[in-house]
Amino acid sequence: MAFRAQNIRKLTYQCLQDNSRPVKFKFFPAPKPSSVTSEQWNSWTWQLQKSLKTERQFAEVFDLTQSERMSFQQGSEVFNIRTTPYYASLCGEHSEDPIRKILMPREEELAPGLQQMLDPLGEKKNNPAPRIIHRYPDRVLFLVTDICSVYCRYCTRKHFTGQDQAFIRESDYQEALQYLQSHAGIREVILSGGDPLTLSDTQLERVLSDLREIEHLEIIRIGTRIPVVCPMRINDSFSKMLRKYAPVFLMTHFNHPKELTAESTEALRSLVDHGVPVFNQMVLLNGVNNHPAIVQALSRRLLYLRVKPYYMFQCDPSIGTDHLRTSLEDSLEIQKELWGNLSGLAMPNLSLDIPDGGGKAGYTPNFEIERTAKKIFFRGWDGVLSEYVNPQPETIVKPIDAAEYLPEWEQLKSGKQGPSFIECAPNERILPQIF
Ligand code: SF4
Repeated sequence: MAFRAQNIRKLTYQCLQDNSRPVKFKFFPAPKPSSVTSEQWNSWTWQLQKSLKTERQFAEVFDLTQSERMSFQQGSEVFNIRTTPYYASLCGEHSEDPIRKILMPREEELAPGLQQMLDPLGEKKNNPAPRIIHRYPDRVLFLVTDICSVYCRYCTRKHFTGQDQAFIRESDYQEALQYLQSHAGIREVILSGGDPLTLSDTQLERVLSDLREIEHLEIIRIGTRIPVVCPMRINDSFSKMLRKYAPVFLMTHFNHPKELTAESTEALRSLVDHGVPVFNQMVLLNGVNNHPAIVQALSRRLLYLRVKPYYMFQCDPSIGTDHLRTSLEDSLEIQKELWGNLSGLAMPNLSLDIPDGGGKAGYTPNFEIERTAKKIFFRGWDGVLSEYVNPQPETIVKPIDAAEYLPEWEQLKSGKQGPSFIECAPNERILPQIF
């Protein structure tokens, strides 16, 4: 496949609602090789079937460096190697190209590292049923498949992802459903993997429909990198299917503005237009996106496409990822630069997963410079010095109706079952007939 032969890109426009409105960002289609028909290229099953997996297949598309060649054999033993032709077409020629660093194995993966954890999130010890990770009282992860269409070299779930077990075995599926059914405190299920969107529509709809049979379940989240690496998977009929099971939130995973193409923006449009809220979780990666200019570019484009930049994760110390990890200081510096310069709507939350299942540690820049009994002194993001006068503790009161919400709050914290529905009644004041 001669991707490099096709360098002429057709300009397309991302039209949100109104064709007459000026367009702020223009996105381009990925460069399709001339040997491939549009029908093939735009078929997600073709993209999966034609995935590059071996050194020989990669060498047909990339000029592999000696280091990359050396890492293929052993690298695939540490973690599967795979990319869709579409995602490969977004790579630049340089061996340090950001997207290439995400999908291509490198020698550094094999070197002994500073912190090499096969299971950095401690998921194996929170695994009470097959494919279920239950770490928080009211939320669980349900790993419906271990397959991804691209194996990102920084993946945090190398203990599971890419073992090619495909869709969950029927007996494990039933056991997992049974677990969800019998734990009435579970309000939210996050479908993950692997990538749940590598399942067929029929398989995925079966999961969604079975989950919606569980009375105590409120929210379904789907974690997926498909809009980034194989966006042709998503079309209007797929988005309509998701909408049927609302509220379903789609958590996608763009890391770099160069991942936004006409194809991926069309996938996002389809989801949002069909009422599927989309959030983005990026990972800060060394030499890939660890610069405020790149994070702002990604975040602004996503926000324009009606996708909320949600998390900016510190890369987990997963095995073979030392070379892709930024220091926390580097990440904080990026966050501080963005703060104030970037709309709050576009600002992702910087967060580090405490290794071994310690949960999330969130970070925000600290602008406080001094605190006294009555005042807090600040230097703001652009250097403005000011003070905030604290109300006195004895003046602090709690809302008179807090007690009304206490049972719900206690149930949430305990992971116990709540009522089958919650009445959300407003106060009732019949206004006198004076209007
Ligand atoms: S898509 Fe997600 S689960 Fe799959 S390899 Fe990439 S980071 Fe890991």
